[in-house]
Amino acid sequence: MKKVLLSVLAHPDDESFGMGGTLAKYAAQGVDVHLICATRGEAGEVDPEYLEGFSSIAELREQELSCAVEQLGIKPVHLLSYRDSGMTGSRDNENPRALMNAPLEQVAGEIAEYIRKIKPQVVLTFDPIGGYRHPDHIFIHQAATRAFSLAGDADFKSESPAFQPTRLFYHTIPKYFVRFNVGLLKLLGKDPTKYGRNKDIDLTQMVVEFPIHARINYNKEKDIKAAAARCHASQGGARLTRGFMKVLAWLLGARFADQFMQAVPEPSPLIIKKDLFS
Ligand SMILES: [Zn+2]
Repeated sequence: MKKVLLSVLAHPDDESFGMGGTLAKYAAQGVDVHLICATRGEAGEVDPEYLEGFSSIAELREQELSCAVEQLGIKPVHLLSYRDSGMTGSRDNENPRALMNAPLEQVAGEIAEYIRKIKPQVVLTFDPIGGYRHPDHIFIHQAATRAFSLAGDADFKSESPAFQPTRLFYHTIPKYFVRFNVGLLKLLGKDPTKYGRNKDIDLTQMVVEFPIHARINYNKEKDIKAAAARCHASQGGARLTRGFMKVLAWLLGARFADQFMQAVPEPSPLIIKKDLFS
């Protein structure tokens, strides 16, 4: 049987700054790797120089996403039509098209429809805190989790017959990495509650311990992931993969491996998988 993997994420750049190494690894092995992206990243901050030749941030970021997808070697992206909600408290939250304002059941239904067509054995999404508590990440975590069971539910009526994927994993950020960064920022006299390009990431809220059931090494695909991240130049993708940050990430033991918590089926404790399909 053809191996198929589906990753369900919220914004252009989530795939490359997050689990891109894992996606590239499976694509390199001949697995059909699909990506659903719920928004076009409209709320991202973009320096005017990057917008030249584009009519909107959405158009620019969609183009950056196609570039990244091509680098990763995965299938063309499946874009949903919601709007980036921005970080909690931003004005983008109020937009009626914002993902966070959509009915969860509706978004889950759209994702379930894709699952029935794509027929992945493995589905990946954010962890319950959405990595760093972005409202869209948390929403997509919930919608993808709901869609996972909806796809196999005969009572859910759609164009395609029911299909039940067998494995659901949540990507989770190594907590030692977060703790180290909080300490380092404090040492440098910086505020760990206002981290990142848009100063909207509170690192101190990210130290939640989730169990790890799979660790996927992508040492061989690390350059592919870096190339995909560079596609997201408007979001600082070039900076993330060179110089000090690169050395730091390596020293911290983010040694080119992604960590996943297994939601379905019930994981067996004490075993850390090296393959999401095993
Ligand atoms: Zn995101």
